[in-house]
Amino acid sequence: MMRTECPYAEHEVSWPYRLIESFMSHQVSQPSRHTPRIALVTGGMGFIGSNLVRHLLTSDPALVVVNLDVLTYAGNPDNLADLPAALAARHRFVQADICDGAAMAKIFADHRPDTVIHLAAESHVDRSIDGPMAFVQTNVMGTATLLHAARQAWTALPGEASKAVRFHHVSTDEVYGSLGDTGLFTETTSYDPSSPYSASKAASDHLVRAWHRTFGLPITISNCSNNYGPYHFPEKLIPLMIANALSGKSLPVYGKGANVRDWLYVEDHARAIECIVRTGAVGETYNVGGHNEWKNLDIVHLLCDTLNELQPSGRVGGYRSLITFVADRPGHDLRYAIDAGKIERDLGWKPRETFATGLRKTVQWYLDHPQWVARIRSGTYRGQRLGLGAG
Ligand code: NAD
Repeated sequence: MMRTECPYAEHEVSWPYRLIESFMSHQVSQPSRHTPRIALVTGGMGFIGSNLVRHLLTSDPALVVVNLDVLTYAGNPDNLADLPAALAARHRFVQADICDGAAMAKIFADHRPDTVIHLAAESHVDRSIDGPMAFVQTNVMGTATLLHAARQAWTALPGEASKAVRFHHVSTDEVYGSLGDTGLFTETTSYDPSSPYSASKAASDHLVRAWHRTFGLPITISNCSNNYGPYHFPEKLIPLMIANALSGKSLPVYGKGANVRDWLYVEDHARAIECIVRTGAVGETYNVGGHNEWKNLDIVHLLCDTLNELQPSGRVGGYRSLITFVADRPGHDLRYAIDAGKIERDLGWKPRETFATGLRKTVQWYLDHPQWVARIRSGTYRGQRLGLGAG
């Protein structure tokens, strides 16, 4: 019996009301239902990908997940090493590069997925400032190569089978650019990316839409705010601060720490992706966010206070005494904030974690998994400053 987080019953009951509401706002889209049997998840050894693979395997005991990842510095097989046997039996890992067209064609031929959930990407803004070309290669060329392979494989399917497929693209709210002190990004906000990372993700979104409009590929897209949670590579704000604090290193805050981001617990994002894949309208985009805006400096304070409580450092002034202010990131967007009303109204998804509960779980996870961080930091990444444009 399938157990899914996505509330089908509520979805059915509310449809006539949503139709009226959508009609009033000139956004009529047909709800659809898709049951993935074999899902190809790209980037499934990364932060969000590994949490998503675990979620999908747990949520649907009939689902097979093919995890395609080239294993860059950010792809970490440790992230799924502790999968329980019942889940591991339905997990197939394939090491391959989404830019390799022949390898993509072979994966579609070998595994015959009816669903693609595309996360593989270069994902760190600071690295995109030091080395932008890798971002263009993977995020733009890689996405086009994957779309081409999916189209080739699926148009070869007979009749209705070629429609019973989905390509879901996981993207970011950073494509919309920066907000002032007020306002929210909606699905109709114009794209205005600032960094090579966000520009390459914007390009990939356009390619996915083009494959739908031109070739009829059944796609959906999500643009999500900042994620946090277990298995987050310690170059990003929250895990970097936790890892540095626990090893008594300084906590580098960019500029004055005034930049604002909306934060979502990674499991809530995984639930949103599953929900869109199963019930999202083909061709539609859904913004995903936590209604949870925080200034960077306030997050660092909250992390220090949570750590002081869970693992006191004994330092005078506690972990906050480690905070230092460093040169700001070039082109640092001031504020991102998401209006996630469409996915809530149309698909019945809502975040479950508050920032207080999610952050506490996250800090506890890092306290419980010191070896996970130690193994990463014994490699090439040692917590050095990235993103000053030296590349
Ligand atoms: P991540 O860097 O942790 O993981 C990316 C994964 O993609 C890694 O496992 C890496 O090995 C793999 N990969 C990279 N290049 C590849 C290639 N050429 N072929 C195959 N695999 C490749 O990233 P993440 O934070 O988990 O983000 C995943 C996706 O979600 C990205 O597309 C990102 O743009 C998007 N996103 C992230 C956030 C966030 O807050 N982290 C928010 C919104 C959207």
